Amino acid sequence: MRPTGRLHLGHLVGALENWVSLQDEYQNYHLIADYHALTTNPDTRGLYENSIELLIDWLAAGLDPARSPMFRQSQIKEHAELHLIFSMLITTARLERNPSLKEQVRDLELNSVVYGHLGYPVLQAADILLYKGDLVPVGEDQIPHVEISREIARRFNSQYAEVFPEPAGKVSKFPRLPGLDGKKMSKSLGNAILLSDGPDEVWARMRTAVTDPLKVRRNDPGRPDICLVFSYHQKFNPGELTEIRAGCESGSLGCVDCKKRCADRISETTAPLRERRAYFEQRRDAVKEILADGERRARGVAQSTMLEVHSAMALG
Ligand code: AMP
Repeated sequence: MRPTGRLHLGHLVGALENWVSLQDEYQNYHLIADYHALTTNPDTRGLYENSIELLIDWLAAGLDPARSPMFRQSQIKEHAELHLIFSMLITTARLERNPSLKEQVRDLELNSVVYGHLGYPVLQAADILLYKGDLVPVGEDQIPHVEISREIARRFNSQYAEVFPEPAGKVSKFPRLPGLDGKKMSKSLGNAILLSDGPDEVWARMRTAVTDPLKVRRNDPGRPDICLVFSYHQKFNPGELTEIRAGCESGSLGCVDCKKRCADRISETTAPLRERRAYFEQRRDAVKEILADGERRARGVAQSTMLEVHSAMALG
């Protein structure tokens, strides 16, 4: 994940919940992608603080640093080195076809793309393959990137020697949570509900959510299947779905009441996370030590993979 601010509900349902459940079954590695953050904004002020905030969100979500190293990309030089090697194994035409890049250019209204942004999936391939990752639990937008990692792994293995697994993407049950305006929920689009938002903030944000445009008055019948708020109910309020659908379709449930119920359920879901966040916020030194320890452990794995890479390439 990029350290671009506090995490939102999309991160929770698209990635974090998946990560927490996978930590019992797999050896996990959690990367704070601080170099990736520079692809859309080269300003490094606040990057360190944002990395700590990200780590606190992870710990609050229930990730266990004793089992899974958590580390910054910039602190392990092998990411940059493997990125360089991989960049010789993929064409620019292939990277230009990447649908996630096109989507970002459109959503962020970028006039031009820096070289490093085009190469984002190549750096990501290095992020994954340095740890010989075979499963990459991500949101739907990242699946084309994982496909590029597979191609690079295959290309390296056939060109030099069998060093890397071909990683597979693993999406969660909610691979793409929409934001309050209907576009993908994203920090940069300002359409997100944050995991750290308290009940008042959640409600204030939820009030702005777009609903069925044909349901203008309270008693007009609505169409839950095209309503954003209903999609949040599906995730955060599964117990009341039948009643909410019936109320919306018959016109007996107005959008304001429906949103209020949804906001309440969301606040309930994130309450334990906020409590744990407060605990770690009081213990920043311990959080920094968790990062330092994760970086030591990840560096050891990355260095040993690079020895294999050098040997496969007969680079001295
Ligand atoms: P990012 O903040 O773009 O670096 O995303 C970090 C991870 O969260 C990636 O696995 C994304 O696919 C996932 N993610 C981000 N936003 C959403 C969303 N709105 N719905 C589902 N997954 C998301």
